[in-house]
Amino acid sequence: MTGEDTDTVGNGDGGAMDGLVVRGCERCPQLVESRSRIVNGVGPEDADLVFLGEAPGANEDERGEPFVGRSGSILDDALRDAGLDRTDVRITNCVRCRPPDNRDPMREELANCRGYLERELDLVDPALVVTLGKVPSEHLLDRSVAVTKEAGDVVDVRLGERSYRVVVSVHPAATLYDGSQRETFFETIAHAADLAGVSASDSGQANLGDF
Ligand code: SF4
Repeated sequence: MTGEDTDTVGNGDGGAMDGLVVRGCERCPQLVESRSRIVNGVGPEDADLVFLGEAPGANEDERGEPFVGRSGSILDDALRDAGLDRTDVRITNCVRCRPPDNRDPMREELANCRGYLERELDLVDPALVVTLGKVPSEHLLDRSVAVTKEAGDVVDVRLGERSYRVVVSVHPAATLYDGSQRETFFETIAHAADLAGVSASDSGQANLGDF
C-alpha cells in the first residue's frame, strides 16, 4: 500500500463520508493495496451535470482527481465545445480507488462503493448524470448496455430513494481507438449539456457510440 489517506473520520474499514469526501475506507482489500489514495469527486457541490466514470487510473490515482490524463483532455475538449468548463460540472467515479493493473472493478467493489455514490448524487442533486462508458452505464442502469448503440439515450434510473435522468455515453478514450467515436462522444456531451440546461447551444442528438 502506498500513501494511504490518514485523515480518517469514523468507523474503521468502512470509512466515512464527510460531506462529499470519503476518507479512511478500506472495504475493498485489493483496491486498498493498489491505490495511492482515495480519489473523490470534484466540481461544484450543486452541479447540474454529473459525469460518472468507472474507476481512477494511474494518472487519477497520482493526482487525486477523476478524469485527468488523455481521457480527461478529451472530456475537457467536449465540454468546451458545449460551452462548458470542467469546473462547471461534477466528475466522479463508481469506485474511488484504483484497481490493480487497471482492471475493471469487481461486482463486490462496485457494491462496496455504491453508498458513497448514492450519497454524492443525493447531495449534489444534479439535473442529469452522464455515464462515461460501459461499466458506469451498466452499474446505474442495472442491465447489459451496448453503449455504441445506446449512447445519447436518456434513461430514468432509480438510485436508493431517488430517481435521476441518465444519459449514456461512450468513454472518452473510445475516441482514441476509433475516430468515428469522436463525433458520437462530442454530440452526446453537447446533448447532455442541453438537457441539463447548462449550455446555450441547442444541438440535436445523433445516434451515438461502444467502449
Ligand atoms: S473503492 Fe470505495 S468502497 Fe472500495 S475501498 Fe475505495 S472508497 Fe472504499
